[in-house]
Amino acid sequence: MSRRRGDAEAGRGRRLVRFLRPYIRPQAGLVAGGFVAMLAEVAFRLLEPWPLKVVIDAVIAPGAAQEPGILTLLLLCALAVVAAAGLRALASYLMTVCFALAGTRAMNAVRADVFAHALRLPLRFHTGTRSGDLINRLVSDIGKLRDVAVTAAMPLVGNVVTLVAMLAVMLVLDWRLGLVVAAALPVFLLHSRRASRRITDAARVQRRREGEIAGTAGESFGAIKVVQAYTLEGTLERDFARSNERELSEGVRATRLSAGLERATDLLVGVATGAVLLVGGWSVLEGHLTPGELVVFVQYLKGAFKPMRDLAKYTGRIAKAAASGERILDLVGTRSDLADLPGAHRMGSVAGAVTFHRVSASYGDGEPALHEVDLDIAAGERVAIVGHSGSGKSTLASLLLRLQDPVRGSVMIDGRDLRAYTLASLRSGIAIVLQESVLFTGSIRENIRMGRPDATDAHVERAARAAGVDEFAARMPEGLDTLVGERGDTLSGGQRQRIAIARAVLRDARIVILDEAATGLDAASGAAVRAALDRLSEGRTTLVITHALEDALACDRIVVLERGRIVEQGRPDELLARAGSRLAILNEAARA
Ligand code: ADP
Ligand code: MG
Repeated sequence: MSRRRGDAEAGRGRRLVRFLRPYIRPQAGLVAGGFVAMLAEVAFRLLEPWPLKVVIDAVIAPGAAQEPGILTLLLLCALAVVAAAGLRALASYLMTVCFALAGTRAMNAVRADVFAHALRLPLRFHTGTRSGDLINRLVSDIGKLRDVAVTAAMPLVGNVVTLVAMLAVMLVLDWRLGLVVAAALPVFLLHSRRASRRITDAARVQRRREGEIAGTAGESFGAIKVVQAYTLEGTLERDFARSNERELSEGVRATRLSAGLERATDLLVGVATGAVLLVGGWSVLEGHLTPGELVVFVQYLKGAFKPMRDLAKYTGRIAKAAASGERILDLVGTRSDLADLPGAHRMGSVAGAVTFHRVSASYGDGEPALHEVDLDIAAGERVAIVGHSGSGKSTLASLLLRLQDPVRGSVMIDGRDLRAYTLASLRSGIAIVLQESVLFTGSIRENIRMGRPDATDAHVERAARAAGVDEFAARMPEGLDTLVGERGDTLSGGQRQRIAIARAVLRDARIVILDEAATGLDAASGAAVRAALDRLSEGRTTLVITHALEDALACDRIVVLERGRIVEQGRPDELLARAGSRLAILNEAARA
C-alpha cells in the first residue's frame, strides 16, 4: 500500500471527524458520562480475576484446610467476584446507554442538516444525480454511520483502554510474560490495517452499487405508469438484477475480508496463549510466579485478546461505515454556487420590471442555451416567449428565478442585479406555473397553502375561487380537504393545473412566469385553466411561454427565440402583419 494512499485515507478520516465534531459537541455531557462508565467498566474487568488468584494460592498452600480464616476468605472472594461482575455489568449498561443516546441524537441532527443541504443544492446538481441514490445516502448511509458510531467506534475506544491497562498489569506481574503478549500486538495492528483498507475499498464499491440499485428502483417507481404502459418491466428487471448481482459480489468480498481478519486474530490469540502457558509454566516452576498469578495472567490474556478480537470485528464494520461517511461528505462538500452574496438584502415590494442584459447561459460544454440575450420587460407588461422546443425558453425562466446564474451578462429586477437580493426573498417574489404541476401528498388546501405557508384559510379559499379550484372541489366529498395522492395522480391534468395556479395566486407576486402552463390540455379544461391564468397574471409582469398562437396574441409583446437567440420581437399585430414573420411556427404547430 503506498504512502500517499494512506495519507489520503487519513485525510478523509480527519475530514469526517471534523464534520461530525460540531454534532457531537452538544452531546458532550453524555459522551463524558459514557467515558466515565467505560473507565469504571475497565477497572472492574481488571479486578475480576484477582479473587481467583487469592483463592487458588490459598487453597494449594500446604495445610490450608486447617487455617482458621480460610472459610471467611473463600466467602469474601466469592462475594467479591459477584460484586465485581455486578458493578461491571452496571457500568457497561450505563456506557452503552450514554453512547447510544449521544450517537443517535448527533446522527439525527446530521441527517436533518444533510437533507436541508441537499434541498438547497442547485438544479444542476439534482438533474445530474439520481434521487434514489440521494435518498440512499440520507437514509441508509447515515444510518450505517450511526449504528457503527454507537455499537463499534465508542466500544472500540473502551477496548483499546482495556488492552493497554491489562498489558500494563501483565508487565508488572511478570515482564517476560508481558513481552510475549506485547509482541503479538504489532503483528495484529499491521495485519488489521492492511485488511481494513481492503475492506473499505470493497465497501466503497458496494455502497456505490447500492446507490445504483436505489437509483434504478427510484426511477422505475417514479415513472410506474410509463413502465407498465410500455411493458418495460423486463428491461428494468434486468438492469436491476445486474446492479444487484454486482452489489452482491462486492458485499461478499467485504464480508470475506472481515471474516478473514477475525479468524487470523483467533489464530494469533491461540499462538500467544500457547507461548504464555509455556513460558508461564516455567516461571512457576522457577518460583518467579505463584500458580494463582499464572491463572490471573491467562485470564488477562483472554480478557486482553477479547478486545483485540472485537477490534478485528469492528474494523470491518468501521471500514464499511467509513465508505458511508465518504458518501455523506461528498454530498455535504457539494457547495451551492447560488448562495446569498455577502451584503445581499431582502427584495421587498418591487414594481416588477425585468431586464436581461447580454445574458448567456450554458449547461456545460456544448452550445450555450442562451446567447447574449437582451430583453427589457416593463413592470406590468405581458410578454409571450415563443420558439421551438429546446430554443431556451425555460432557461430564461430559470435564470429569472435564479435556479441558475448566467455565465455572462446580468439579469435584473427593477434595475438591480438578482444577486443583490437574497435568494429566498427573490423567489418568494415570483410565482411560476409549469406545464406539469406537481402536488404533494396531502389535501388540496395544504397544496394551495404551499404558495404562502402563513396564509389564512380565507386567503386560501379566495385563491381557490380565483383559480377555479372550487368548481371541481365542490363536487368532491370533502371539498378543499380532499386528499390527493402522491404527485397528485388522483386528479386530472387540468385540475392539478388549477391547484398549482391557486398556489401561485396565493403568492401574490409582482412577477408571474407561465411555462407552457396551458399546454397539453383538452379544450374544456384548457379554457378553464386559461381563465384562471388570466386572473392570476392580471396587472402583473408576466412571461408567457407558449406554443399556442391565441395565448401569444393575447400578450402585449411577442418575443421569438431560436437556438438561444432572440430573432424577432414586437406587438402581436405587427408580427401578424409582417411578411415572413417567425410567428408562423405557431400556426404550424397549431395545425400539426
Ligand atoms: P425550451 O424550454 O425552449 O424547450 P430549454 O430552455 O429547456 O428549452 O433548453 C434550452 C437548451 O438547453 C436545450 O438545448 C436543452 O437541451 C438544454 N438544456 C435544458 N435543460 C438542461 C439541463 N438540465 N441540462 C443540460 N442541458 C439542458
Ligand atoms: Mg421548456
